[in-house]
Amino acid sequence: MRIKKNDQVLVLSGRYRGKQSRVLKVDAASNTVKVEGVNIVKKHVRRSRRNPQGGMLTIEMPIPVSNVQLVCPVCGKRTRIGVRFAGDGSKFRVCKKCNADISQVSPAREKR
Ligand SMILES: [Zn+2]
Repeated sequence: MRIKKNDQVLVLSGRYRGKQSRVLKVDAASNTVKVEGVNIVKKHVRRSRRNPQGGMLTIEMPIPVSNVQLVCPVCGKRTRIGVRFAGDGSKFRVCKKCNADISQVSPAREKR
């Protein structure tokens, strides 16, 4: 799974197709993501200490990662994600379109 929390993604299919938003949560086990404002359901909640008013809450439901594509923060295009290893052993996610580093995945390896 190459999508990470707080990535900007574009929804590719379903009711929210074409919407661009931020990833709130990634679930690697089920290969799903929660995207802000996407796949919202209304939930009825009882009065509780956390919700003294009770009533309706809107919450995001997870959607399959395969239905979203990363929007590159550098070039602004929707893109696939590549992986680049630097000379020091550190690992980066890179944009396939502009080759810019998107984020670091793992730190440099210690030399022995
Ligand atoms: Zn790019």
